[in-house]
Amino acid sequence: MEDYDLLICGAGPVGSVIANRAAEELGWKVLVVEKRHHVAGNCFDEFHQSGVMIHRYGPHYFRTNNEELLSYLSRFTDWVPGNYIVKSCTRGELFPFPINLLTLEQFFKRSFSAEEAEAFLREKAIKIETPQNSEEFVLSRVGREMYEAFYKGYTEKQWGVSPSELDPSVCGRIPIRYNRDCRYVDHKHQLTPKLGFTELFRRMLDVPRVKVLLNSNFLEISRSIQPKFATVFTGPIDEYFGFRFGKLPWRSLHFDFVGYNEKFRQPCVQINYPNDYLYTRTVEIKHVTHQDCPNTVISYEYSRAEGDPYYPVPAKPNEQLFQRYWQLAQEEERSRSVYFVGRLATYRYYNTDQVIEEAFKTFDKIKARHKAA
Ligand code: UDP
Repeated sequence: MEDYDLLICGAGPVGSVIANRAAEELGWKVLVVEKRHHVAGNCFDEFHQSGVMIHRYGPHYFRTNNEELLSYLSRFTDWVPGNYIVKSCTRGELFPFPINLLTLEQFFKRSFSAEEAEAFLREKAIKIETPQNSEEFVLSRVGREMYEAFYKGYTEKQWGVSPSELDPSVCGRIPIRYNRDCRYVDHKHQLTPKLGFTELFRRMLDVPRVKVLLNSNFLEISRSIQPKFATVFTGPIDEYFGFRFGKLPWRSLHFDFVGYNEKFRQPCVQINYPNDYLYTRTVEIKHVTHQDCPNTVISYEYSRAEGDPYYPVPAKPNEQLFQRYWQLAQEEERSRSVYFVGRLATYRYYNTDQVIEEAFKTFDKIKARHKAA
């Protein structure tokens, strides 16, 4: 095996960003080991057999408030506007979601000014000073009726447990708005890579001194390669340590992709089904990619416990177990320069921009510690 300065497990957003910066800024030789047959991690997009671009591992709605991050990514891609509109199908009707004034008006069949809606929901909300879990969080914001219509069933399907067992931050990801803004998220920049995420990360890795090994097992390869400076691990932290304290719970997904011979099948990119069907949501990513074609594909998304890890499960006992692994990880960083970063390695429910921010921080840490060496 050749000599490498940096060894990276995983060619997802974190691995790609750190590989690119180490090669370009430090002139390091980097080996990226990826177990799947492709780069881009769960951002991977590809063309369905019918020619429609799909997000293979679930929709990625890229957004950020970070100008530096956006300008870095813009070196590898042009963008199209995000157009992230989601509706929730409950009580047999489609409602704007996240909840905003339009949702309230449709749901309670009356009109509201922002002040009237705030006063109305204050009445409906259950008084809970400091919500301890996602159920309490939602009840304390919108009350029981809307909790049961929009959140309870969806969260049970998505996580396999009651919202009362999940950290408040899970349902707290979703804003509640006292205006008529129907966009899914609030961020200043809501954009999608024009040629897709796979192409963006492919370009990021396509630089001198970076080698990517696909279909390869990192734990095996790392036995025979000792990088000169550091290792970056972006896989599941419990797997790295041989599950020695037991398995961390992960939530996985299954997708059925179905093609239709019509330009669009549903009115917006995502429809959530809190109370009907076994799937959580249907996604027609064409609304976001703006692909010009006569047909379309809908992804029916099912949540499950088994399979590839997609989501950490933010709950107290899981966090305690994670912290035991994290102690080991910190020791591994100190003694062997192995850096744990990303959704799977830090058991954090991060969005794509957030993992890239984490990648930047880790790169800066590695650079500060090893550059002079
Ligand atoms: N959620 C919900 N009802 C919805 C959409 C989301 O109760 O219609 C809750 C659910 O627990 C979900 C969480 O809010 O897991 C975060 O939703 P988001 O859409 O951000 O999830 P992601 O797209 O990351 O799967």
